Amino acid sequence: MKFESLGLAAPINAAIAAAGYTDPTAVQARAIPEALAGRDLMVSSQTGSGKTAAFMLPALQLLTEAHPVVGRGPRVLVLTPTRELSMQVTKAAETYGRNMKKVKTISIVGGMPYPVQNRLLKSGVDILVATPGRLLDQMQSGRVDLSRLQLLVLDEADRMLDMGFKDDLEAIVSKTPATRQTLLFSATLEPNIVRLATTMLKDPVRIAVDSQQARHENIEQRLHFADDMGHKNRLLGHLLRDAEMNQAIVFTATKRAADDLASSLNEQGFSVAALHGDMKQGARTRTLQSLRKGGLRVLVATDVAARGIDVQGISHVINYDLPRAAEDYVHRIGRTGRAGKNGIAISLANVREHFQVKLIERFTSQAIPVSVIEGLEPKARVFSKPSHPGSRPGGRPPGRSNDAKRPGSFSGFGKSGSGKAFAKPAGKTPWQGK
Ligand code: AMP
Repeated sequence: MKFESLGLAAPINAAIAAAGYTDPTAVQARAIPEALAGRDLMVSSQTGSGKTAAFMLPALQLLTEAHPVVGRGPRVLVLTPTRELSMQVTKAAETYGRNMKKVKTISIVGGMPYPVQNRLLKSGVDILVATPGRLLDQMQSGRVDLSRLQLLVLDEADRMLDMGFKDDLEAIVSKTPATRQTLLFSATLEPNIVRLATTMLKDPVRIAVDSQQARHENIEQRLHFADDMGHKNRLLGHLLRDAEMNQAIVFTATKRAADDLASSLNEQGFSVAALHGDMKQGARTRTLQSLRKGGLRVLVATDVAARGIDVQGISHVINYDLPRAAEDYVHRIGRTGRAGKNGIAISLANVREHFQVKLIERFTSQAIPVSVIEGLEPKARVFSKPSHPGSRPGGRPPGRSNDAKRPGSFSGFGKSGSGKAFAKPAGKTPWQGK
């Protein structure tokens, strides 16, 4: 299928061609025609699948026609869980709308100074991209009028619920016209998302995309067991010195750990920076710009801060700390292997964490091959059977294993420091859906 056959306006098709896209991705091919037909959508798709264009292209198409009511309020509202994702979506609106000079997109996120936001809002907006908390703030101050809204997009709805935005979402949606069209995107369509959809969507079309990219088949996954922190740090140093590594995101469990690890790597001579939620917005934006331009080789980040990062140079994702929720593993590794490239995702686990590894494997229905680096082998015996005994660095490509694929038999719920359940109820994997 070609983009031209989707019936998008010529300026949009020209922008798509300028972006270098030839064919729609699977999620785009299924979602765009339904969205253009005015249907509400409930889409399960991973980041990296091209989901942003799947909603932004129909949004821009809507803006090719005049609104019956003159006003300054937005016609399209995209809600995202994080500031980074908001920035990313805003950038996508500008890229795909580059030939539509009259379309105005603004981003309203926490951490941005109010006077700047107030000025932006005063001048009128077509596409408003926002995080729920700050938007609600601005709505309560009377600066945002949603009465002209035609299209509402809930991007990464699962994450917004995880982050406790449910009440904010309901409060925002209650101020939008009932006539609006609503598109919901989520990594999984688990019961809490379906419940949310029941209250906010009208007879939605369900779309679940099982693309190669959604299954992360372009990402080689590896696991290294470490005896202790010293061993883990030696493994990390070795991995970061790998000549094949272009850029890496290293994930830590806490903001403090991200800062500490970044300064320790900096002392070892790596070009590195931290990214987490305690940093001022300006610093976060500068760090991401530097990563995007290749000025940084290593980014040490927390889950929330790294959400939505789309940098094609990221060749490696390294889980210095295992994720707190198995679902976060999928989001983390999706930072590499962007736009059809290959990527490598390496997890460093303490030998006592083999149970968490199993939970991740059950969640993804994929075994993570165990690797060992010569001279840096773990001394302790790993009590669980390695997924692929004897595999060496660069060993087997990721694949499905019967060992890991027993969701029905899984009944354990581990807990981490945050108290978040480290598990997924038995059932479908994130990319399966209905
Ligand atoms: P997303 O899932 O929206 O975060 O997009 C992932 C990446 O795929 C981004 O870098 C997009 O620029 C890129 N992309 C989106 N649609 C296409 C397409 N049809 N062809 C090639 N690349 C695409």
